[in-house]
Amino acid sequence: MDHFLYRDGVLHAEDVPLPEIAAAAGTPTYVYSAATLARHLGLFAEALAGLPHLVCYSVKANSNLAVLAHMAALGAGMDVVSGGEWRRARAAGVPGERIVFSGVGKTREEMALALEGGVRQFNVESEPELRALSEVAAAMGRTAPVAVRVNPDVDARTHAKIATGKSENKFGIPIARAREVYAEAAALPGIAVVGIDVHIGSQLTELAPFEAAFAKVAELAHALRADGHDIARLDLGGGLGIPYASTNDAPPLPFDYGGVIRRTVGALGCEIQIEPGRVIAGNAGILLARVIYLKRGEGRDFLILDAAMNDLVRPTLYDAWHDIVPVRAPEPDAPVAPVDVVGPVCETGDTFARGRMLPPLAAGDLVAFRSAGAYGATMASEYNTRPLAAEVLVHDDHFDVVRARPSYEDILARDTIPAWIGRDPSPPARRR
Ligand SMILES: *Cc1c(COP(=O)(O)O)cnc(C)c1O
Repeated sequence: MDHFLYRDGVLHAEDVPLPEIAAAAGTPTYVYSAATLARHLGLFAEALAGLPHLVCYSVKANSNLAVLAHMAALGAGMDVVSGGEWRRARAAGVPGERIVFSGVGKTREEMALALEGGVRQFNVESEPELRALSEVAAAMGRTAPVAVRVNPDVDARTHAKIATGKSENKFGIPIARAREVYAEAAALPGIAVVGIDVHIGSQLTELAPFEAAFAKVAELAHALRADGHDIARLDLGGGLGIPYASTNDAPPLPFDYGGVIRRTVGALGCEIQIEPGRVIAGNAGILLARVIYLKRGEGRDFLILDAAMNDLVRPTLYDAWHDIVPVRAPEPDAPVAPVDVVGPVCETGDTFARGRMLPPLAAGDLVAFRSAGAYGATMASEYNTRPLAAEVLVHDDHFDVVRARPSYEDILARDTIPAWIGRDPSPPARRR
């Protein structure tokens, strides 16, 4: 359930009509619902009730500081995958001891940053990374809390670009080699083993792959304990999927996902950490856009919006579906007809949907992309020198612009023209 509903024929975010936000912030603009974010976070607290646990929201899904601060105020920890995200989490008020540092290519600078400023654990993904972390921590006179991310070789049955738990993926250490790596970790200076980490992919719509992966983690936990390691914590990653189309079957509920956790690892007495991102932020946000033109083509019509692939790349990157709805509800008997919904970017890939059945829409009308709260704004770029979309957070009947659209001056000021250009008299052809 989310908080984007029609009232009196107008789509609202909580108690705010979306046309009001468009008038104040312009379009394209991401709009997030604080109540939906809180509700989704709360579902995981319920799902894991009775187990010692920490929900570490995955920052890369939606890293706006207001969103992070809202999550942090509700008690969430954070899962970060870069020094930049670690800084965001800290800037949002998350204490270091609630920040988990994941990612396959942490640099020594990033390790030092987190060791200095506070970190709950590093999820280590390779032996070279483990050795580098040992050196950095020992040189600083610190101890790095470590979980090794194991790759359980489980098929997450999701889009190939977001599956991470098969042996051919770049992530983690093959689970068969985990005992060796833990033995090395235990012997290295500056390293303290605290647990095991696994994350098998994103947008999973079945529980079976989780069940298979967590069962393997439970088996490994027993083996590592027998080897003398202190396995106090299990980080089970994120990945629970969301419904992107109103017509689809709903993916498993957080409560049932919690059931899988209880069944597979509940008896180990470990503290459970999870890293949900999409399932918290995805349906807590929409992308608000305006129709620029309706173009009648040869056998197909194009609805050209002021949002483009640089704002929301998921359709072109993952062939993702987003429901697209008019902000003013159509008449109940309005006809629907197929249109290609596209943006203004000079790429054929800048297509959000082909042959989408929509009611009549005209230049100036507002539309909303549903389920755009995760991997939307965070994956945006300024391709075609299009300013990043604004972001708005709604709270009841109130909204704040939580990231202003940059001005063109801001954008141009980031580049520098070197002084020699246009002053060098020798034409390239005569150079030696
Ligand atoms: C991306 C990621 C997540 C979050 O995945 P969702 O599908 O958004 O829940 C969690 N943990 C790690 C290590 C990730 O890379």
